[in-house]
Amino acid sequence: MPLYCENCMKVVEGPLCPACRNRKLKEVEPGDFCLVAEVHYMQAEMLKELFADNDIPCTDRSVLGAGITVNLGVNVGFTRLYVPYDRLDLAKELYDAYFNAPEAPDTLREVLIGHVYRHFKGGLYRVEGVAKHSETLEEYVVYRKLYDDKSLWIRPKEMFLSPVDREKYPDAMQEFRFEPVDENAEDPE
Ligand SMILES: [Zn+2]
Repeated sequence: MPLYCENCMKVVEGPLCPACRNRKLKEVEPGDFCLVAEVHYMQAEMLKELFADNDIPCTDRSVLGAGITVNLGVNVGFTRLYVPYDRLDLAKELYDAYFNAPEAPDTLREVLIGHVYRHFKGGLYRVEGVAKHSETLEEYVVYRKLYDDKSLWIRPKEMFLSPVDREKYPDAMQEFRFEPVDENAEDPE
């Protein structure tokens, strides 16, 4: 049986815990709670629901500590999630599935020229074309703002098609940085 550090609530290699230097390790038992991940508190709520749906008991600890949470009136920090050792593999699978974005549909892997896209912060833009950088040959999307000054912008194509950075923007309402919109419904012109 692998060894378990009760301080860190983690399975460790031994003979001492690499994190806290604890030497009093014990053999892990099926019911010992083990760390799955440290996540933003909003993601923690969703993961806890996901675990509950799969009958995985879960406990959590705020990384900032309860005192800070209470003083600020809101939970601004990160949360560590723990599940029993015998459910750890399943919990990690669910965690991976939750964080690895599903395969993008075809419309999100190609730039649709002439189409209106919504940026995840809400602004609408029309793609004018895809251009190549003369020195690096990297592809850039050329797109026009459909509000304010209607200015023209460029951004590397790879970045244009990338998912929203969930670490930085956990509350974003869409999965990709830019998503094509239904022009009949959304085109402001
Ligand atoms: Zn430890």
